Amino acid sequence: MPVSTKSKKSAAPTDVVSATPFVSTTEAVVPGSAKLKQAILRHLTYTLARDVHTATPRDWWIATAMAVRESILARLIATQGVHNDQNVRRLYYLSLEYLMGRLTENNVYNTDHFDDVVTALKELGIEFNEIREQEVDMGLGNGGLGRLAACFLDSLATLDYPAIGYGIHYEFGLFKQEFVNGHQVEHPDSWMIFGTPWEVLRPEYAVTIQIYGQVENVFDDLGNYRPRWVNTKSVMGVPYDIPIAGYGTKTVNLLRLWASRSTEEFDLAAFNSGGYVDAVREKVVGETISKVLYPNDKTENGKELRLVQQYFFVACSLRDIIRRHFRNDDKGNTWDNFSDKVAVQLNDTHPAVAVPELMRILLDEENFQWDKAWAIVTRVFGYTNHTLLPEALEKWSVPLFGRVLPRHLQIIFEINKQLMVVVAAKWPGDVDKMRICSIIDEGGAKAVRMANLSVVGSHAVNGVAALHTELLKKDLFPEFDALYPGKFQNKTNGITPRRWLLDCNPRLSALITKTLGHTKWAKDLDELRGLEKVAGDAAFQKEFMAIKRANKVDLAAVIKAECGIDVSPDALFDVQIKRLHEYKRQHLNLLHILALYRRLLQNPALDIVPRVFVFAAKAAPGYDLAKNIIRAINMIGAKINNDARIGGKLKVAFLPNYRVSLAERIIPAADLSEQISTAGKEASGTGNMKLALNGALTIGTLDGANVEIGEEVGDENIFIFGMTVEQVEALNAKGYNPWDFYNADEELKAIVDWLGSNFFTPGENQPFGHVHHSLLGGGDPYMVLADFRSYSDAHAKVDAMYRHTAQWAKSAILNTARVGKFSSDRTIREYAEKIWSLPSVKV
Ligand SMILES: *Cc1c(COP(=O)(O)O)cnc(C)c1O
Repeated sequence: MPVSTKSKKSAAPTDVVSATPFVSTTEAVVPGSAKLKQAILRHLTYTLARDVHTATPRDWWIATAMAVRESILARLIATQGVHNDQNVRRLYYLSLEYLMGRLTENNVYNTDHFDDVVTALKELGIEFNEIREQEVDMGLGNGGLGRLAACFLDSLATLDYPAIGYGIHYEFGLFKQEFVNGHQVEHPDSWMIFGTPWEVLRPEYAVTIQIYGQVENVFDDLGNYRPRWVNTKSVMGVPYDIPIAGYGTKTVNLLRLWASRSTEEFDLAAFNSGGYVDAVREKVVGETISKVLYPNDKTENGKELRLVQQYFFVACSLRDIIRRHFRNDDKGNTWDNFSDKVAVQLNDTHPAVAVPELMRILLDEENFQWDKAWAIVTRVFGYTNHTLLPEALEKWSVPLFGRVLPRHLQIIFEINKQLMVVVAAKWPGDVDKMRICSIIDEGGAKAVRMANLSVVGSHAVNGVAALHTELLKKDLFPEFDALYPGKFQNKTNGITPRRWLLDCNPRLSALITKTLGHTKWAKDLDELRGLEKVAGDAAFQKEFMAIKRANKVDLAAVIKAECGIDVSPDALFDVQIKRLHEYKRQHLNLLHILALYRRLLQNPALDIVPRVFVFAAKAAPGYDLAKNIIRAINMIGAKINNDARIGGKLKVAFLPNYRVSLAERIIPAADLSEQISTAGKEASGTGNMKLALNGALTIGTLDGANVEIGEEVGDENIFIFGMTVEQVEALNAKGYNPWDFYNADEELKAIVDWLGSNFFTPGENQPFGHVHHSLLGGGDPYMVLADFRSYSDAHAKVDAMYRHTAQWAKSAILNTARVGKFSSDRTIREYAEKIWSLPSVKV
């Protein structure tokens, strides 16, 4: 087994364990480092027109990626060949977001090339650590939902499931974040402006789709209603393919992302009337569709372009799925076996327009009768719900929908008509039930409810954690659950152990491999249970904690470089990294920081474990409260960091531009994981899983997957605090008044008042007025004040346990050892068995 002695960290490498974790794939064709070196040099010359003397770090990165890509593309072709020959059943995953991060390192690991790449580059005088920093994250997603899609692709390929992910090839991914005087400032993320080595343009699979126009109500010779969708605009979708290499297997699936292009028809009118330049300007409209990712996480604002994006990628993808199916007509593929070969999963309601689009194709283009078409559609689709927050449930105004997709609106009305018949049969005379179940919201301005459409159009609906699925059935869709028994199921989220342990934490990976004596764990995460028996072993604890400390030294260097703050690796690293949202309660964390700061000011001798509070979070550009919370953390943090009176016991570091590659640096260095959403609001969370897997203890509410993490690691290895869902509901029912908690708690009152002052930003008027208002006058909708005392008490327990190094180490080790359940391999197996009926296929 090859052994690398080089730390993969670029920042202040401090190796504790130097063996790289490695899995030897039994059959994989692994070019030796010599062959790889040749390929790198070949690409330097013939792809990049460079020689070794003039090559920049970016050239080296591209040449290396191209060299590794050779074997991946060979495997891609082989995989697709086998899938085609065997005419396999496939899963098509439709998602408006994929938060992939960097691809090179993951591909190098998954294809077992790591040591060869390091060796080859070393012989060329290049450090892999340096060149991998050249890659810009592929950030085509907002947060958890997009990252889940990325983890699923990794698991699907690793488990040899035939699958294709479909999405949009955004020219600009999620904005880049910078802080100016503590304020978030957004910049465009032109991730692909200079191209990327990991995608292949496929002009031969370009498709043209229609949008806008009107419906002509026409009857054929036999008097059948044959509506015609006319005067449409055409848009072309051009696919970019990104290979997805499984780990320790030859399977390479693909992610197919559509870029929009104008068609000639699109230009014609302008060309004739306004001439050449106007025609080109029209062209820009067509290209706008795939221009930019909407930066909202869990809020929908009904913008036309967003609906156009959804329809564009869904229509292109369905065309592609159908083309691929009928390409195998020699193997007997017809519409009759379409639903035997095709499973489509809707990642949230964003692709829900696929339901009426497939109906439209079957009815209008293939002349199907309604019932037969509907039977195909409902066998094909599955729908994953990601949130119960009302502002996140997609609705489209009926007039807008009718303008963009007139024929689809007709079809939705027909689906709804039939649904109303079913509802009326189940609850005769109950108008209320009809109103609740209707796909059309009739209260106020009429709107299409995409969640209702998705539930009705799918054979399976799933939540993403046990608690979330319960609430889905109990609170959001009780009528549908009664109407369709068994349709609702749970699939607790997971994360890929390759990116989130093997690649991002090489020191811990090496220790695990050494201890277990094998590398199977990266493919079978339950194997980590083998660490339980050494959790109490002093020597093992020492190694484990030394690795944690080394990772903290690395993160300290990142914090110094990004924030200019000096932090000690001996402090407790208390980490909250996730999108900035009121329900995620970063401001609860802030109140606790204020409390500690105040306690220290009033008693400088107070003995607390020194802490470094690490934040990273982007706020949606139009979300004022979230932006004010960022500002408050930054300004209060600056005050604390520079206050000599507290002797460096508290530090606050808000790392800018949270993204996958930054998460990969923070997570291995975390001691404490903050998962503090109001109970009932976080559907699952996946950041919680990544942190626990890397040996961080959770301080959290009984929300989302925290509940299941607690069940796995045991009550003594997690800090649970705050109200339960039932208690939140009870308090709401009785009427929650934040002032009651404010008035009853002297310390809480003092820090809330402090937050509302201009102590931290002299000269500014009400700098954190928005946050302050949300907590009191605004009614504190997420019950921050109600949970504060319990949260503060839980932190006191954290402090106490951290002083007992052996006890803390044991708990940290048991977290790593016991969270195997949260591998996305487990999640994907459950989807494959219970929703997709998808056999795996060895290549
Ligand atoms: C995992 C991940 C998330 C999701 O984090 P939660 O804590 O579950 O909200 C968001 N963004 C990035 C970059 C991630 O890696």
